[in-house]
Amino acid sequence: MAALQRVDVQALDPARLTPVIGAERYAKFEAIAATGRALLDGRTVLNVNSTAAGGGVAEMLISLLAYVRGAGIDTQWDVIEGTPEFFEITKRLHNHLYNSPGDGGPLASHERAQYEATLADNVPALLEDVRSGDIVLLHDPQTAGLAARVKEAGATVVWRCHVGVDYMNEQAELGWEFLRPYLDPVDAFVFSRAQFAPQWLDHTRLHVIPPSIDPFAAKNEPMAPEDAVLVLQYVGILDGGGEQPLATFTRRDGSRARINRHADILQTGPAPPVDAPLVTQVSRWDRMKDMAGVMAAFSEYVTAEEVHLVLAGPNVGAVTDDPEGAMILHQCMDAWRQLPPNSRHRIHLACIPMTDSDEGSAIVNALQRHSAIVTQKSIAEGFGLTVAEAMWKTRPVVASAVGGISDQIVSGVHGLLIDDPHDLGAFAEALNRLLDDGAYAEQLADAGRQRAVDEFLGDRHLGQYADLFMQLESS
Ligand code: UDP
Repeated sequence: MAALQRVDVQALDPARLTPVIGAERYAKFEAIAATGRALLDGRTVLNVNSTAAGGGVAEMLISLLAYVRGAGIDTQWDVIEGTPEFFEITKRLHNHLYNSPGDGGPLASHERAQYEATLADNVPALLEDVRSGDIVLLHDPQTAGLAARVKEAGATVVWRCHVGVDYMNEQAELGWEFLRPYLDPVDAFVFSRAQFAPQWLDHTRLHVIPPSIDPFAAKNEPMAPEDAVLVLQYVGILDGGGEQPLATFTRRDGSRARINRHADILQTGPAPPVDAPLVTQVSRWDRMKDMAGVMAAFSEYVTAEEVHLVLAGPNVGAVTDDPEGAMILHQCMDAWRQLPPNSRHRIHLACIPMTDSDEGSAIVNALQRHSAIVTQKSIAEGFGLTVAEAMWKTRPVVASAVGGISDQIVSGVHGLLIDDPHDLGAFAEALNRLLDDGAYAEQLADAGRQRAVDEFLGDRHLGQYADLFMQLESS
């Protein structure tokens, strides 16, 4: 039997959102929460996914579930345990759903048997947490195969798929064929975009709910520019002149803490000076994020000497359900070594410590806030929380017009989007345009901030879930 991990969920009072969303909007949320409390009294909303840290799903669950608890609704979070082979298979499946063959391996009967065996191992511990009448949200392909057993236990099953592409190729179809046998018992499918759902899925059970960010998480909390500089100097991303400054941040629970760990950085010479404009991408080391493409475009076309590029991702090995991280990082490092010396001097690859998730979040917060431009040059993207995070921080964004990024940014209004994610020239042209025209960059960033507040905060997100639960109840 697998050792399912039960993640500690702390309660946060959602009223803390009021200064950001205003009293009127909060009152609407409070009314929805009251309906939710009545509907779910004596029941639990159980979330099941495959990692407690790293990536957008974990990031979102930490915040959202805290507000759900704070609103007086019982919610829990279980993380399944898997073998390395299981995660190799599910990563392959994940890549397929993004139109990519991933590691090129099969998704056939052996892989299906392994997938089912790992999930079956998790079932006994999972069912200890499920009561008849509960609502169980299974997140992503890793957990889809649990739907039938959870349904048999008398729960309502929601499958929340965070990944997908607007136009499927044969790889994506293969990935979906792998998942198809597990989806029939599901009561509701939740996607970030309607286009991500395959044609054959029962669209009467389909619901579209885009993700959100938490303005008070260590990732997004207000941070003064000088504090961001101290954090980045401490971890080594900015040149601190050999000093070890005292750098602090606020944890999710409101307590203050000190940055204690350093980033692992690949660079020649010193870190960028404090006044150097930084172009930054923060992503898992994942082929779909195309860190190497950002680097190639920057090296070739962004020639202003003073501008530096920082590619930052988690320390590899830190994200349990992402076994390709080390390989993709090493590919990036190899590509970096091939660059001409004057490019290498301005390009920095940073691995951010993940041991303490609030600390890692604070480092990302500082980096995004200090950046002149935040990029997300993904080849495909379910949503792209990093985009909403940058918009929230009033940073101009240059990103690919793929998946959920297109729902966040209207190009030329809230940031700049590149239609073809492989077009390095167009990507770099957008970077250069914003580097050259600070007023335009600021205008986009201001509009982006407003959009993040209007569309991508937790009250909207939880309100949509409450609507869904009410619909499920009445059907
Ligand atoms: N992230 C992080 N540290 C890293 C890389 C990413 O904290 O080194 C966070 C990032 O800030 C965002 C999340 O992980 O909150 C990634 O979510 P996104 O939706 O952008 O992509 P996903 O990883 O889910 O594909």
